[in-house]
Amino acid sequence: MSKYKIAIIKGDGIGPEIIDEAIKVLDAVSIGYEHEFIYEEYLMGGDAYDMTGDPLPQETIDGCKAADAILFGAIGGEKWDSLPRDKRPESGLLRLRAELELYANFRPVKVYKQLLDASTLKPEVIDGVDLLVMRELTGGLYFGEPREKGKDSAFNTMIYSKDEVVRIAKMAFEAAKKRDKKVCSVDKANVLEVSQFWRDTVIEVAKDYPDVVLTHMYVDNAAMQLVRDPKQFDVILTGNIFGDILSDEASMISGSIGLLPSASVGGKVGLFEPIHGSAPDIAGQGIANPIATIASASMMLRFALGENKAADKIDAAIDRVLEEGYRTKDISSFGAKEVCSTTEIGSIIADYVSK
Ligand code: NAD
Repeated sequence: MSKYKIAIIKGDGIGPEIIDEAIKVLDAVSIGYEHEFIYEEYLMGGDAYDMTGDPLPQETIDGCKAADAILFGAIGGEKWDSLPRDKRPESGLLRLRAELELYANFRPVKVYKQLLDASTLKPEVIDGVDLLVMRELTGGLYFGEPREKGKDSAFNTMIYSKDEVVRIAKMAFEAAKKRDKKVCSVDKANVLEVSQFWRDTVIEVAKDYPDVVLTHMYVDNAAMQLVRDPKQFDVILTGNIFGDILSDEASMISGSIGLLPSASVGGKVGLFEPIHGSAPDIAGQGIANPIATIASASMMLRFALGENKAADKIDAAIDRVLEEGYRTKDISSFGAKEVCSTTEIGSIIADYVSK
């Protein structure tokens, strides 16, 4: 029997609701595959600030470093928006990514056949989309120093070192080798020196991957192409801020931000989380879609623990739930046989997983 230590961070808003469903599904899958998950819960985000004065307590960093993987809900909310920047929940998450060297963020975008009508894009445009946004996560504009907010002006710094670009580019080429062997590197090299440097470095790395086709696209064009013809993309490789924006845009191809998982890797321990935030507008109502978080748990099994069969089982159960017309409110206008609460969807997926 394999035992895995999973650090659980529920966070704020809908975080606890969606994580509880993912744990339910993990428990169901563990029975069939003879492995045991030992969950250890840690505070992070607004809740952590309220209880400890720090959005990322040291105990959380230590616990995450000692785990086999981290399953993360979401953090943040208006209540904490006026705090000094270093006390805000989002700063805690940026610090955690940096502490754990989670420099590569995988955001796969898949279209569920059953939800082709749920997207605001035409079904023929999105049918068959299968792309991966590979976002650099611990560098660029969000981390660059110096940064300052003065009275009459403010600035941030967009900076990338060679090492930072090389390691994320390698990750993208390796991922492409297992997919359609295409990498589109997205930058703003026509305007920004840092982007020209990014492009030059990616071209250098590409020499080691002759079987992968490399193309380049400016970020403004990429934003447009993602809604015009998303099927042209296989792996989109991009920096921190461009990846943040493009992956949210790409999420709408699938119909709801509540469907898409992500994996942040690079250091010793990986972090798995839905791509959405804490959705304070629907927190506590029992209507949040837990599928993105359950799919993140599946990614955790595959990427961090090598439990591919268990991951396949979860993915199949999600497909089946959608096939059979069970929907949370966010996707209820599309082929719903029954509109379900967060816990109901979690229970049906857990039930299918254990059969
Ligand atoms: P959000 O992703 O929380 O919500 C955007 C919209 O999508 C909302 O209408 C929300 O109700 C809906 N939505 C999100 N997840 C859903 C789900 N699972 N099911 C159904 N509907 C869902 O983005 P926001 O409103 O811009 O941010 C809210 C807070 O979350 C902010 O404090 C922000 O900083 C934080 N945030 C955290 C993370 C994270 O924890 N990784 C990521 C993004 C935003």
